[in-house]
Formats: sequence, C-alpha cells, structure tokens
Amino acid sequence: MGRELRRVALDFDWPANKVWQGFLNPLYVATKCAECDGEGYSADGRRLKALWYGHMPFKPEDRGSVPFTPADEAVAAFATRNVTRSPEFYGHGQVAIDREARRLCALWNGAWSHHLNTGDVAALVAADRLYDLTHTFDPVNRWRPKDPPHVPTPREVNVWSISGGMGHDSINQYVCVKAECERLGVPLHCSACNGDGELWPSADAKQAYEDWQEVPPPAGDGYQIWETVSEGSPISPVFASPEELATHMAGTKWGADEGTPYETWLAFINGPGWAPSMVMDGRGIHSGVDAAVTSQDRGAE
Ligand SMILES: [Zn+2]
Repeated sequence: MGRELRRVALDFDWPANKVWQGFLNPLYVATKCAECDGEGYSADGRRLKALWYGHMPFKPEDRGSVPFTPADEAVAAFATRNVTRSPEFYGHGQVAIDREARRLCALWNGAWSHHLNTGDVAALVAADRLYDLTHTFDPVNRWRPKDPPHVPTPREVNVWSISGGMGHDSINQYVCVKAECERLGVPLHCSACNGDGELWPSADAKQAYEDWQEVPPPAGDGYQIWETVSEGSPISPVFASPEELATHMAGTKWGADEGTPYETWLAFINGPGWAPSMVMDGRGIHSGVDAAVTSQDRGAE
C-alpha cells in the first residue's frame, strides 16, 4: 500500500490514477445475496446483530442486565468528560452534565453490546477477546494472563465497554452472535449463500474468477511511479531515466509525495523501489519514500 517503481515499456500509455486494467479481475459475476442482503447471516443472525448495535428495540432486562443510570460512576464520568470538553457546554455546569448522562444512558441501554450476560462473556473469554480485563500489559512482558486467572463479571465488561476505550469490535459482535445462535439452536449463516453474502451462477464461474491471474503492464526500459493503495495505477509519466523521473516526482505539489526531494526520489528509484505512502516512526510522520531510503541507508551502515 504505497509507492512502487515499475519498469514499463517506454511507449506505455495508461492514464494516471486509473487502475491498470490488467489488475482488475473481469470475471466477477457474482450477485449480492438478496436473502441476507449480502451480510451472510441468517434471519436470526441479522436480528441479533441489529440488537447488538441497537438498530432495533432492545431492553437490557431481556438479557438479564441492569440498565445504566445517570448515577452510575462510569456514566457520570463519561458525561462530565463530554461536557467539559465541549466548548458549547461551557458554563452550563451540572445541568448539562445531567442531560448528557441521560442521553448516554438512553444510547447505551438500547444496545446489546453494552449489556452482555455471563454466556456472552464466557464466549468472549473463550475466544480470547477480553484482554483488557483478563490480562495485564506492560512494555517489557507485553500481554500476560492475570494471576490468578480472572473471569470478568458481565458488569465489569459492560462498564469497560462504555468507558471510552476501544470497546467491542466487530469480531466481538460476531463471537457473541455466533454463541447466541448456538444456544438458541438456530443457524448463524444464511442458507441461500452459505454465509458468503453473494451468489455465483455456477461453481465453474466462481472457480474461473479465483483462478484468474493479473496481467502486469508491458515491461520495458521506462521508469514510472505507481501507487499501490488501490489495485495499482501509475502516478507519473513514463521516463527514460531515473534522473528524469526523480525530477518529476520532486515537483509533486500535493498528497503524500509533496516535499520529498530529488535526491530521496533518486535513491528510492535506484534502491528499494517500493515504499508505503506514509510512515510514522521516531522522527514523526513523513513520506514512505523518504523512510524507505533512510532505512536502506541505515542497513548499509
Ligand atoms: Zn445470503
């Protein structure tokens, strides 16, 4: 995902920033599964996913959980943080905080993801998904299981999920929906598409799509820079020499490549020839081309 030098035919002529046709598989003829709207879930799976995100009516009591109230410490802390950080609330004090706390409670009490029960927690622990609560972290030992092992209570997990960290991701959602489907004895996946979310006219058509191989641009003596953030497209004209290409790229006026000097480009073209668009390291954020050349220099020392 970045910048790449390609050696192409000198007369190679393909529009800049347009994905090279040889990189696009033309054999994709599948259609979205209408039964599951491309999600791959069964009807029960879709219903549970909607409950998880609060996209359909949900009550904490339905899962044996207790609704959050404005008096809960975690709610009050979050509301205070939101209010005091927002300039428009400045000076409104406790009234604004109480209003925000009520808003947050309505939001959080409307989604299964903040009201897990012991079964949900067990599924997440079994899938190694609650490291924040079951492990400790320090820079030396990294993640380590708590000793003695700790199985968090649903309340602990639910407070953690509203407390402003990363919270549950889509993998956690999948783990909980899958476990609930197993408990209910209902299928998780859509039977029409076997969970793929798409339908192929035939197995042969799918196989042909999977067997397809990309066709690189015509090789030759030319020098050209490509972006690989998409499937791949040229972002410079074709030049006959590294020096001409470096001169052109050093004049880039926008985007990730702006400000990378001629010498860096030349070293990149003659050296690694591949780099991510942007890199963050001890020196801050800078262009990937710059970083690739620098790390190459370090390697040569
Ligand atoms: Zn389907």
